[in-house]
Amino acid sequence: MSLELDRRLAREGTRFRIFPQPRFLRKDDGSGPLFPEPEVVVVSVDPTAMRAGPGDDRMFVVDAVGKLPYKDFFRPPWRGSSRPPVQPGADGHFDQIDPASREFSAATMYATVRRVLDIWEDYFGRTIQWHFESDFERLELIPLIEWDNAQSGYGFLEFGFGRKPNGTIDHARPYCENFDVLAHELGHSVIFAEVGVPASPLDEAVDYGGMHESAGDLVAIVASLHFHSLVDYLLESTKGNLLTINGLDRVGELSDSSEIRIAFNNKRMSEVGDEPHRRSLPLTGAIFDTMVEVFQQDLVAKKLISEELRERSTNLPGSALDLAEIQAGFTAAYLGNEAAFKESLLLARDYLGRLLAVTWSNLSPDFLTYHAILRAMLRADRELSGGANAAIIRSCFAWREITPVPTSLLVRNHTVASCGLESADFVAAQPADQQIPVQRPERATFISPRMI
Ligand SMILES: [Zn+2]
Repeated sequence: MSLELDRRLAREGTRFRIFPQPRFLRKDDGSGPLFPEPEVVVVSVDPTAMRAGPGDDRMFVVDAVGKLPYKDFFRPPWRGSSRPPVQPGADGHFDQIDPASREFSAATMYATVRRVLDIWEDYFGRTIQWHFESDFERLELIPLIEWDNAQSGYGFLEFGFGRKPNGTIDHARPYCENFDVLAHELGHSVIFAEVGVPASPLDEAVDYGGMHESAGDLVAIVASLHFHSLVDYLLESTKGNLLTINGLDRVGELSDSSEIRIAFNNKRMSEVGDEPHRRSLPLTGAIFDTMVEVFQQDLVAKKLISEELRERSTNLPGSALDLAEIQAGFTAAYLGNEAAFKESLLLARDYLGRLLAVTWSNLSPDFLTYHAILRAMLRADRELSGGANAAIIRSCFAWREITPVPTSLLVRNHTVASCGLESADFVAAQPADQQIPVQRPERATFISPRMI
């Protein structure tokens, strides 16, 4: 998976630099930016195959001049004027661009979307074809329009800027440099392409809407766990104690908008309504916790933490003292074993990426429920690990109260009477030498205790 992908791309791909998290995020102690340096990423396109923009055969940047946001009757492609396309350095790579320049923003937008697509195509094991392929061959990326918003639409992503507290445009916060926002929006495209949309107008698509937002977050979280600086930060600040249900707030320095922070939620179904972003939280939490449990399972297998510590962190701790003791246990285990913890986390990340890719590949968008996602995920785990993680998946979803809906036919009991099998039951209950031969319908063969 991604570990091998990155080894291969290091030889074949084109280099860019991007910031793992927005530059304006500061450390809590005020000592400077949280991620001061952009990290080198390598996209899957060979330098000789790169096009102006930057661009390639799947997407391209156009830095439009004087452009208003697309609307219903104003759609791509952009036919107005644009700034000159960003050029690579003499070696064909783009990692020499000054982070203070406009070209850096344009190149970052391309590299982010391309990198996230590379990561997810690797998990899917094939090309993810655009859902807009009937109209456009390539995704149009517009980095810096004069707008205090951003949007993704049919065939395009166009991004403006954040807002200052007084409501005016904040040019220091271009959305196109926000890895999480771009990755989340691309996540919606992945779901459109791989799951599709509900066909029936009678389908209220409540869980479908929650799933879409959750998928956007998960696509971003898994992708952001490919930045070494972010993984190191996460492990350093938590010492590997990542489980979210114990309510610890260990990623405080990441702003509220950060996708990783969204994963650290403890919401259950009874606490959220139908609004898609709220509804996405229990699903995202269940799936993120599945990754964390798989990570912990690997730590136990490698004797990096004890089974007892794992048990204590998984079962809801009763007091603040318990939480402090669990954290102390993780801290003691982590120190001196940093590289091994990181390796286990990256393995768990790649398991989750594959699990989601197989799950989404086999999901019907019609009348979708979270329970159907849970079952698709169990099937995916059987395919990937022979069902080794089924108990983890079940317990993570159960804690979030993701169960069959009460009206589901799946939870309806079938009695012998309702199945019309009373006479057969009577026969089966008699000792063999007293049984009266009766004419039984063929289906009586299928009586089982489970059905009574
Ligand atoms: Zn979204």
